Amino acid sequence: MQQELKKILEIQELDMNMLQLLNRKRERKKELDKIEGIKTDLQKRMSNKQNDITEQKTLIRHIESEVKEVVEKIKKYEDQQSQVKKVDEFNALSHEISRAERERVNKEQQLSKLYDILAADEEALQNLSETLDSTAESSQTLEEEIKTAISEINQEGQKVKKTRDTLTQEADPETFAIYERLLNNKRDRVIVPIENRCCSGCHITLTPQHENLVRKGDRLTFCEHCSRVHFWPESEVLEGTAVSPKPRRRRRANKTS
Ligand SMILES: [Zn+2]
Repeated sequence: MQQELKKILEIQELDMNMLQLLNRKRERKKELDKIEGIKTDLQKRMSNKQNDITEQKTLIRHIESEVKEVVEKIKKYEDQQSQVKKVDEFNALSHEISRAERERVNKEQQLSKLYDILAADEEALQNLSETLDSTAESSQTLEEEIKTAISEINQEGQKVKKTRDTLTQEADPETFAIYERLLNNKRDRVIVPIENRCCSGCHITLTPQHENLVRKGDRLTFCEHCSRVHFWPESEVLEGTAVSPKPRRRRRANKTS
């Protein structure tokens, strides 16, 4: 059984490497998303500002034409006034004229405020546009760097996968199926050594009987607490592999060689 685990342990190391690569890739993608988010936010604010400006311009045009109408109305009253003979008619028109004048002044004040708001909004839009440009420019190098890093991670991942594919061809199918199921569950090492009579996956102490079973290595032994598969790290079969290469084992290996 230890012999069968040996191949799976090699696969496991590759899978841990793969999980690390995936984590790194996820982190780098998050960075890209963040940059993209800043730019999208600026674009959204620009678009909102542009809408405000369009609305203000429409309103301004509307009020400007109202002012024009009032001015024409005043002119009409003045023309009428020059032709009337009666004092009360003249006074009535004077009253209308001063009312229209007040209306004109009100509208012009309203316009003046709108011109100020429009100018401020146009300036704000210009600032947003400049900020977006400089953000895009300054983040370009970083974005390229991240994209290159992601592509390198992908390449490394391809290599790992290729090696893994070869190893899985050689692995015991039954043991491998168990391993994969556990791995998908835990996304962590699932074939783990017993260390100081503890499961090195969940760190819970194991019984001597359990340890003996693992030592014998006749069949797969699962941790009762975390379901990981145990192996005996000092097993002769596993010597020289990447799994917990302790100096103690190395020394022993040297002695026997
Ligand atoms: Zn455990």
